[in-house]
Amino acid sequence: MGEFDLIARYFKRPARRAALGIGDDCALLQPAPGTQLAISCDMLVQGRHFFADVNPHSLGHKALAVNLSDLAACGAKPLAFTLALALPEANEPWLAAFANGLFELADAHDCELIGGDTTAGPLNICITVFGEVPVVNGQSLALLRSGARAGDDLYVSGTLGDARLALNVQLGKLSVPAPVLLAARARLERPTPRVALGLALRGLASAAIDLSDGLMGDLGHILECSQVGATVQVDQLVQCIGSYPGPGPAENQVGIDFSMAQWRTLALAGGDDYELLFAASPHHRAAVALAAQTSQTPVHRIGQIDASPGLRLLDAQGQLLPNQYASFDHFA
Ligand code: ADP
Ligand code: MG
Repeated sequence: MGEFDLIARYFKRPARRAALGIGDDCALLQPAPGTQLAISCDMLVQGRHFFADVNPHSLGHKALAVNLSDLAACGAKPLAFTLALALPEANEPWLAAFANGLFELADAHDCELIGGDTTAGPLNICITVFGEVPVVNGQSLALLRSGARAGDDLYVSGTLGDARLALNVQLGKLSVPAPVLLAARARLERPTPRVALGLALRGLASAAIDLSDGLMGDLGHILECSQVGATVQVDQLVQCIGSYPGPGPAENQVGIDFSMAQWRTLALAGGDDYELLFAASPHHRAAVALAAQTSQTPVHRIGQIDASPGLRLLDAQGQLLPNQYASFDHFA
């Protein structure tokens, strides 16, 4: 199978929204009047972002999911994407599964593949997504990292730490019961981009970012871009841990004997969560709750934005925790 047969068989579909899709030198995309294009690009590299034996259906899903997550963080509505693919060989069952995983998520978000590039080489997947953000009275409604203000509430969506838990099990660093691993692996391999929440937060959130590198690092970006500080109730955050119960009620325990420090590390320094971290004025509490409800996305309030720079971590008793958690990447 040649390069052009491969594209035609696995990636070319009739254009829907795009003025011109796959097949010419450029695709043509017409943004709706009164909107801006939001553009983001993310690359997945074998050995760094996934293992060689990863399920190709999941890989197709994740390659697009991590990109849609960036649109979500900007409050942008997905429109289209391009796919640059380096493949060691034209393995048809692999390509079919990869394309299915990719298009299932693309169709769920009405996001159209409009072009790309295909070469031989070590497996590498690079997607660029295009989304749409309204401009009202000359003002973009995009959610940025730079708008957080002292006094704002700080929220996180969904659950944290699952992907890191699954990764640590895969790396042989720890073991957990099989049902816990199953749920955690689903979060690592098939993350849910929080697109509906991002759209619902337009005009509400003062700043937002998606969590790809762990909460400590990504919150740091908001603080730096907004020139503010923050206080995080860490043990509130630990309750956001996902597929497996944290140090909560006894009936939730599934036989994971982690120390509180390990739970905190998972919640603060996990990665690959693809949840949204955002700030919003306390005046918007009811509206944020409604946005969570309409987008069917769980949202937790985990702290607040402060005028004084730096990040303060508090435990359940309000005691200051050492900020060394920031630098933890793995279980000690
Ligand atoms: P060019 O040589 O002009 O860069 P190509 O021959 O690489 O164009 O690609 C032919 C067409 O197929 C183009 O429209 C391109 O966008 C599209 N295409 C190539 N690879 C992919 C892919 N992996 N997914 C989707 N479209 C692709
Ligand atoms: Mg080309």
